[in-house]
Amino acid sequence: MLYLSTRNNKISKKPSEAVLEGIAKDGGLYMPKSFDDCAFPMEKLEKMSNKDISATVISLLFAGDQMLKNENGEFWGAYELVSKAYDGKFDNEDFAPLEKVNDAYVMELYHGPTCAFKDVALQLLPQLMSAAKKSTGMKDEIVILTATSGDTGSAALSGFSGVDGVKIIVFYPRKGISAVQERQMVSVDGKNTCVCSVGGNFDDAQSGVKNIFANLTLPKGVKLSSANSINIGRLAPQVAYYFKAYRDLLLNGEIKMGDKVNFVVPTGNFGDILAGYFAKKMGLSVGKLVCASNANKVLTDFFENGVYNKNRSFFITNSPSMDILISSNLERLLYLTCGDEKCADYMAKLKENGEYKLEKSELEKIKSEFEAGFTSEDETIKTIKDVYEKHGYLMDTHTAVAWSVYEKWVKESGNSDKTVVLSTASPYKFSNSVMNALGKEYDNEFDALNKLNAYTGAKIPGSLINIEKKAVFHNATVEKDEMLDFVDKMVNKKVWND
Ligand SMILES: *Cc1c(COP(=O)(O)O)cnc(C)c1O
Repeated sequence: MLYLSTRNNKISKKPSEAVLEGIAKDGGLYMPKSFDDCAFPMEKLEKMSNKDISATVISLLFAGDQMLKNENGEFWGAYELVSKAYDGKFDNEDFAPLEKVNDAYVMELYHGPTCAFKDVALQLLPQLMSAAKKSTGMKDEIVILTATSGDTGSAALSGFSGVDGVKIIVFYPRKGISAVQERQMVSVDGKNTCVCSVGGNFDDAQSGVKNIFANLTLPKGVKLSSANSINIGRLAPQVAYYFKAYRDLLLNGEIKMGDKVNFVVPTGNFGDILAGYFAKKMGLSVGKLVCASNANKVLTDFFENGVYNKNRSFFITNSPSMDILISSNLERLLYLTCGDEKCADYMAKLKENGEYKLEKSELEKIKSEFEAGFTSEDETIKTIKDVYEKHGYLMDTHTAVAWSVYEKWVKESGNSDKTVVLSTASPYKFSNSVMNALGKEYDNEFDALNKLNAYTGAKIPGSLINIEKKAVFHNATVEKDEMLDFVDKMVNKKVWND
């Protein structure tokens, strides 16, 4: 398999190179040259374990790459990487359990070490990178540079902390992430980790990181890479849980092989939902992929009228991991819809004017596979309360956005296929919002966590118990125009003391 830049098909890389680089030289994102040889063996699905599914997806998407060879030279090294990534890391043996809630299923993707779905990808990405480094004989030190709206940072720090030959710098917006998320990050004690807050919102932090990739002159022996969902090594692991959900529905008799299943996905950077589209391209019987947004509904508008316009007010919401105005992975859908030249053109327009408009035929193509909707702050809160009171199921704000969009969409469309709503964070990661929704009092966010437990009896994830008592190891902070200088200093520093 080869990977091509979404902005220029002449830029082509092996999977291991694409994983190590993160983003293409021209600013494009790497995409498989074709999905023709990526057909998932659906006839075997029912008998596959979770790890079989993950390893199969990786083997298909990164077919033939040396990094997937194990020590005996067999290509089944994918299974070993998956084992290293997942064994013993999830507090639930099933890394993505399905819970029936009313007529739908909720897929809980948050049982990993940092309690958000990003763990599924970010426990595996470091293993892929380390294998890619070995197989390409790369000696350089890799510095992972990441902007986070909260969850990526802690999941990336958890995945990369202590990994040899890789360092990681995480930038997060000073306002707009929760106290729990912040503490999860600044309490990571790894000699290869650096955490820094930025004066600005997530898009400022993300733009700053993109600027560093384009403009920083690196010392010899150092390479930058990304753990954001623009890295194909981050996207690929997420494809697995769509197949896994389908297998579970087959096993519990909810569907027959070939039946269509819809997925409703709380969306920010468009990585999670795009993984569902990859699954469809690989042969999964997906009905609609429903893109759920919060008040930052740039994607809802895009799917409705084909105009992507980021020139609008930015809202800090109670689902902060979805507070995004530039959904980077949408570029990959554009590429699949209209090819590299058009894609490059749209991205240039987005950069210059903050806006582009699809042609009618392009929009129709996209609309035949995707649906979209959004949920206001009030609706999100109301959804948490209603679902808890009516169905006894406790969900976080991001999941509630998706659930609310799901309910509205089913009512409107009358669609009767089985639907899986993706749950992307533990309710305990956003305890204050969940407590507000339930109409309960608390003193601060850490107190909310304990009172939520006292009120609902739902188990607190191990990594969040006593989180407020964890020591702080990082206190760096910069303004958005100081990010490049900051990284310049860090990459020239041999030993990081923090
Ligand atoms: C990152 C995140 C999302 C958005 O996922 P994307 O892949 O960026 O669309 C949704 N919910 C939570 C809790 C997240 O951490």
